[in-house]
Amino acid sequence: MPRYDLHSHSTYSDGLLTPEALVRRAALRGVDVLALTDHDDTGGLSEAHAAAEESGITLIPGAELSVSWESHTLHIIALHIDADNATLAAGLASIRSGRDDRARRIASGLADAGIANAYEGARKFVTSDRLISRTHFARFLVEAGHAKETKDVFRKFLTPGKPGYVKHVWATLSDAVDWIHAAGGVAVVAHPGRYKISPTGMRRLLGEFRDAGGDGIEVLSPSHTPADYHGPGEGWLDLGDLPDLPAGITPIWSRWQES
Ligand code: AMP
Ligand code: MN
Ligand code: MN
Ligand code: MN
Repeated sequence: MPRYDLHSHSTYSDGLLTPEALVRRAALRGVDVLALTDHDDTGGLSEAHAAAEESGITLIPGAELSVSWESHTLHIIALHIDADNATLAAGLASIRSGRDDRARRIASGLADAGIANAYEGARKFVTSDRLISRTHFARFLVEAGHAKETKDVFRKFLTPGKPGYVKHVWATLSDAVDWIHAAGGVAVVAHPGRYKISPTGMRRLLGEFRDAGGDGIEVLSPSHTPADYHGPGEGWLDLGDLPDLPAGITPIWSRWQES
């Protein structure tokens, strides 16, 4: 069986490796099929494709879309997309467009808590002009000595009720699924175990996702234990470290292998 890893981030969002370095690392670690799924952007895919060709591995074009559902932020993974599709590209641009203003509001919350110049601080960790995320604030706050590691920063500063958390409205669930389908891709609920949603809420969410045409659920995710892959040294698992799928599950790749 080929080794799949269908969720990863590069410097085009909040990962630490360039798409090229990410693909090379995946290949060295025995991954046969890698998806690059940067947050709200597909800018890294052409570089990743070129590197995949050189490394002899298969690159599945993807993205991870930020969605607001009820009071929650969810992530929907897009896989096997045509990244040139105009509907998806416009959708992703609309999600990204709110991020800078949100970052300034995060910084202002942190300033109220006595941490000055967090916007400028986070910017120093930004690796793509198109995207600033809480991860960049986390790296800044660790560097500035406000926490030991990124997961402590989230707990202390960047999650609901904490000074660097601001409400933000992302894409709707049905828009995200529609954009992904417009681009010929499949839509997968990312790391459902990470959401603070009750069992009843989860049934409602998955029902709505199914009714919206959603295709799959991420089963194996390091964030069902530690955080997902953003680069060496952050999180516990490396590329290709995921265990086999449990028996009885239809793998998502059967969807594009059939066609
Ligand atoms: P954003 O899209 O700007 O809200 O940033 C979300 C990103 O923050 C996620 O993709 C993770 O990389 C990171 N993140 C969220 N929660 C945590 C956490 N508890 N520990 C470490 N990283 C986290
Ligand atoms: Mn991330
Ligand atoms: Mn995610
Ligand atoms: Mn992710």
